[in-house]
Amino acid sequence: MIGRAAGRGGLIAAVALVAALIVGLGGLVILNSQLVSAVPASTLTLRVPSARFSTDDPSLGLRRVAPQLDSMGPTTAGVAVNSTIVMTFSLPMDRPSVETSFRITPAAEGRLAWSDDFTLRFEPFRLAYSTSYQVEVRGRSVRGVPLSGSRSWNFTTVFGPIDAIPPGATSIKVPILTYHYIRVNPNAGDRMGFALSVTPAAFAAEMDWLVGNGYHAITTEDLYAYLTGARGLPSRPVILTFDDGYADFYTTALPVLRNHDFRAVAYVVSGFIGQPGYMTAAQVREADRSGIEIASHTVSHANLVGMSASAVRAQLADSKRMLEQLVGHPLVSFCYPGGRFNSGVASEVAAAGYHDATTTRFGFWHSLADRYAWTRLRVSGGERLDEFAVAVLGAT
Ligand SMILES: [Zn+2]
Repeated sequence: MIGRAAGRGGLIAAVALVAALIVGLGGLVILNSQLVSAVPASTLTLRVPSARFSTDDPSLGLRRVAPQLDSMGPTTAGVAVNSTIVMTFSLPMDRPSVETSFRITPAAEGRLAWSDDFTLRFEPFRLAYSTSYQVEVRGRSVRGVPLSGSRSWNFTTVFGPIDAIPPGATSIKVPILTYHYIRVNPNAGDRMGFALSVTPAAFAAEMDWLVGNGYHAITTEDLYAYLTGARGLPSRPVILTFDDGYADFYTTALPVLRNHDFRAVAYVVSGFIGQPGYMTAAQVREADRSGIEIASHTVSHANLVGMSASAVRAQLADSKRMLEQLVGHPLVSFCYPGGRFNSGVASEVAAAGYHDATTTRFGFWHSLADRYAWTRLRVSGGERLDEFAVAVLGAT
């Protein structure tokens, strides 16, 4: 959504530049008010053609003119952590030279995308809260002339949600919602697939409802930290969990979560990564960088009940090790495939170094004592928004 809006802004900026070249030689160009309103506030500028246009022969001048940054943004305080950074240049740019020069400090992972030769966007996977960033860009025009003038700028991100619930309680009511596919079920006759599929429209409406009703999406790690007394929680906490690591978590759910500044938990089956219908390694890694807690759902979606202890240990340890290598930091949460577990399996989960595990059992009270059997609320396909609201409110 943000990307598309920025793209349109870039296109309009380019149109305005053409207008400036045709009309504005030597004069102040005021953009048509309709165009101005369509440009995102962060990239809004008045285009003042510099003296080069009046001193150069317009038919030959572009060859020698140095490109400048016409606009860059955001440049303010209070910038959302899901914001896109947009730069527009006065001349068509040599893309590789600009891309290799792009710097954001402190470092943020993300994706560079050109709307056209004038407009470059940087889409961070997720910026940090309360952080001052400096952005710098260099490079040269398609004619080989280096960028001149101002080439760096600063902005500061918003504060994160405040911890309105102080630590200290030994148990707390938090809805942990269970999702599987976020898709239109491709096979209407597949009752199982239908029950596991929430449509993209229904999912977006549910996330809108949560934001509109003051909910803050936390992770199971946050809940564990709260119950150990290490830190508080924001008001109206909710945990969104996605089982199995399907590709549509990345393609469909993640953009919606990002737009809502919602974190979530993805229970990934390590042995399924990269298989058709499942997230790739790069997608799992990007989800991690986007604020999603990556957690284990075994190596092969195994039924851990009835397996030998050594086989259970291998499922728990191998998936943890593989996922940790992928994201580059420790992972501490687990989910039993099919919800199947017993006290022996739960002990193995604890021994493997996990902090907590979720089940398919219904409930919303959680404590440290039952952290290897946390209950959840399943969101099924075909649920109406008012039914979703009643379920969440009842668990809050
Ligand atoms: Zn599963």
